[in-house]
Amino acid sequence: MADTLRIVLSDSKKEKPQANALGFGKYFTDHMFVMDYVIDKGWYDPRIIPFQNISLHPAAKVFHYGQTIFEGLKAYRTSDNRTLLFRPRKNLERLNLSNQRLCIPPVDETMVLEALKELIKIDEEWIPASEGTSLYIRPFVIATEPDLGVSPSTQYKLMIILSPVGAYYAEGVHPVKIYVENQYVRAVRGGTGAAKTAGNYASGLAAQEVAGGKGYAQVLWLDGVENKYVEEVGSMNVFFKINGEVVTPALNGSILNGVTRDSVIQLLKHLNVPVVERSISIDEVQSAYDNGVLEEAFGTGTAAVISPIGELNWRDRQMVINDGRIGEVAQQLYDQLTGIQTGRLDDPFGWTV
Ligand code: PMP
Repeated sequence: MADTLRIVLSDSKKEKPQANALGFGKYFTDHMFVMDYVIDKGWYDPRIIPFQNISLHPAAKVFHYGQTIFEGLKAYRTSDNRTLLFRPRKNLERLNLSNQRLCIPPVDETMVLEALKELIKIDEEWIPASEGTSLYIRPFVIATEPDLGVSPSTQYKLMIILSPVGAYYAEGVHPVKIYVENQYVRAVRGGTGAAKTAGNYASGLAAQEVAGGKGYAQVLWLDGVENKYVEEVGSMNVFFKINGEVVTPALNGSILNGVTRDSVIQLLKHLNVPVVERSISIDEVQSAYDNGVLEEAFGTGTAAVISPIGELNWRDRQMVINDGRIGEVAQQLYDQLTGIQTGRLDDPFGWTV
């Protein structure tokens, strides 16, 4: 782990895509960060190398038992051409929490952050500049030991790849329709819902496909025991504004601790908007709607920042929220957060790096 960072630069630069063709996660920069682990050496040989395919043994444990974790954060280009990362320490802390849950050895967060900064500096030209665009950063760890026994791997690889991404809202922030899922569940207490691990996303695909077929953008996940309490929306955390107060499900062990979620809570407090973290049932959401006090609903996450919910379908009952338009609080949070992330607004919290 004390190894110094090795850098091998690429001698052929790829052509960069047009800003309007970026999409999400389709293009990758010229370099990547890699570091290996073996049980008797710990993490070793941190290096930045030309972006390339990797070769793995077909018995590598990641393919069979899903021992893998990932992170997602963004770098933004400011109008005066600086590069800003948004709360990267939070993502590295969460990476190690995910590691712990999946029996993967922890990494040195400071060292990985320094390597990430170096990688971004090398591929700086890849950070798109137009409104809403950014450089998506995907750190991940995979279990590489070639062994079919169901036990923690003794070998791992940590990689960081970078992908320029387009504006999430190319045509302005727009509310989406959400289907309240009542068959499948995403996570249970004691399970892996609070970790960012591949299996959580694989197991969510079927529900997403069913909802998509019915014309819904995403599902609202309920708890895995009683199918009653709201957990998350798609792969975002969820907030409701009920009668002037903003409510988000408390972290209960099956909900991912989103960096955007935490930022939204702090920002709301800063703006003197009442906000509470507590359990909230779908029945409570429904009765708030019936009583005319469900004022706003929105998801939060790195990709969209704020994703307003315009309609919820719960057991074939439609709840159209705020006439299907973005609410005042959601709009304010979106403007403030994207302003801080891109350096347009002051950062009273010291979030940007
Ligand atoms: N929940 C899940 C399941 C997620 O995958 C994500 C995206 N990382 C989030 C919530 C939002 O987290 P963040 O704000 O850190 O992007």
